[in-house]
Amino acid sequence: MTPVASADRARQAREYESLRNRLFVVRLLLTALTLALFHFSGGSAQLAAGLRAHCGAWWPVSNGLYVLTAVFGFAAFSFPLSFYEEYALESRYGLNRQTFGGWLWDYVKGLLLELALALVFFEVLYALLRWAPDGWWLLATVFYVVFSVGLSAIAPVLIMPLFHKFEPLDNPELVARVTEFAQRAGLQVTGVFRWGLAEKTATANAALAGLGRTRRIILGDTLLTGYSTEEILAVLAHELGHQRHHDLTRLLVVGTALAGLGFWLLHLVLEKLSAAAGFAGAADIAGFPILVFCLFLFSLVTMPLVNWYSRRREYAADAYAVATLGAAAPLVTALDKLALQNLDDREPAAWIEFLLHSHPSIARRVAAARAAEPHG
Ligand SMILES: [Zn+2]
Repeated sequence: MTPVASADRARQAREYESLRNRLFVVRLLLTALTLALFHFSGGSAQLAAGLRAHCGAWWPVSNGLYVLTAVFGFAAFSFPLSFYEEYALESRYGLNRQTFGGWLWDYVKGLLLELALALVFFEVLYALLRWAPDGWWLLATVFYVVFSVGLSAIAPVLIMPLFHKFEPLDNPELVARVTEFAQRAGLQVTGVFRWGLAEKTATANAALAGLGRTRRIILGDTLLTGYSTEEILAVLAHELGHQRHHDLTRLLVVGTALAGLGFWLLHLVLEKLSAAAGFAGAADIAGFPILVFCLFLFSLVTMPLVNWYSRRREYAADAYAVATLGAAAPLVTALDKLALQNLDDREPAAWIEFLLHSHPSIARRVAAARAAEPHG
């Protein structure tokens, strides 16, 4: 790329980053506004009463229908935003490769998945609120662990294949090299899979996914073309670093601690608020907008902490990759290429990175990788 083209790309990346941050704020406001409207208009109380009248005394049915209606209603309400965020904006910046029909089909599948997950999650949460009015928050934390572990374990085999094709990596040289890295580190060799991103997006990605027997490294096909073997190995070594450091488990532990705190605070709020807000008690589904708003607020407030921890794990995985390869150069050039390809702002404002980013900026990762390079 010529310097002019590269400067142009950097300007585009800043613009794209700033638009996405604005959209994030718009989504926050829209979520808060919808929940407030749903509660204060009396819509939630009406829906709960109507469903109870129709379904009789069997609360799991009326609660389930309530959750499905609320989640579907919110999705319908925010559809224009989802369309703009996921399709129009990505197309405008040349990152999207899907037709509108293709995108819509993925959106529908995503929505069905969301409805199913919300149904399970809130049915259990409301059952616990009903059965254990004092200790529900502790049981909910245990449920959160089971739910998250289950989701992580099935994600690469049951959820991700709904959206992308996965095949065992067909490059014997790469597989041999990464197997050698893993064995040297005393790691159990997990599968390495080619992640079919190219038919849908121009962006590249790689990840460690799954738990236990489903654990695997997945590598975007968008990364397998245009990157040298050494660069791909650097990315693979980074993912092995996550595995070596047990980062999925660590994040799960942090998530569980925060979930416990969040549910406990929610318990206190619901006890205080239920009577004042005019519903029968914490287990009354009419209070759903308040319950969701509390969880939403809590996850928003703790997001910088989770992101801070995640960024630390990313630096550690980068350092592991540099140590494994004995040099920083392959990782540095891979990160540079990824930034260009994914239209990442190389150096976003520090406060934006602090609040919103789960990964350190490319400029900081490159600097840290160079600093981690073994000398002499
Ligand atoms: Zn990583």
